[in-house]
Amino acid sequence: MSQISLLFERLGALIQQSLRDDAARHGLLPIHIQVLHYLMRANRYSDLPIAIAEYFGVTRGTVSQTLAVLERKGLLTKEPDARHGKRVQLKLTPAGESVLGESWVERVEQVLCERPAQAAALERTLRNLLSAMQRVNGQRAFGLCRQCAHFLTEDSGARCGLTREPLATEQTVRICREWAAATAERV
Ligand code: SF4
Repeated sequence: MSQISLLFERLGALIQQSLRDDAARHGLLPIHIQVLHYLMRANRYSDLPIAIAEYFGVTRGTVSQTLAVLERKGLLTKEPDARHGKRVQLKLTPAGESVLGESWVERVEQVLCERPAQAAALERTLRNLLSAMQRVNGQRAFGLCRQCAHFLTEDSGARCGLTREPLATEQTVRICREWAAATAERV
């Protein structure tokens, strides 16, 4: 039998422990840190409570409680979405960003920076594996905007082919709940 599942289990346990340590340093729960990380990377179609529930596979009630704690601690704000009526967008405050400053993600990035060639190959392999597992589990993929089947590059700049709206450059490197794999990646 392959050792891959064992390695994933060990990595998962290590990350969970690091996450608990990061959260405890700030008087938070692991889910609070995870939601802050998610919001730091989510694009403007995905910084919503429903998207958080889908991403983590938790109930909307759990998301509401988590957001209430983060808002009360001044780590995020709810801002009206100028494009979509009553919808609010969830934004990290500077205090929220600083909580993520020395997290387990930073430590992983540091290790990967020391191995750039391996990191690129590992990212491709993990992305393919994740996509395959999400298809099996019937979950949304939440991929990177630039790698989406709907992503368009026009003379005027980037555009979303699904919503037809222009995309600011900083939005194109974020993750999106509407992401779709290009045909070649589906097989
Ligand atoms: S191009 Fe794809 S990933 Fe980017 S905003 Fe549109 S649907 Fe989302």
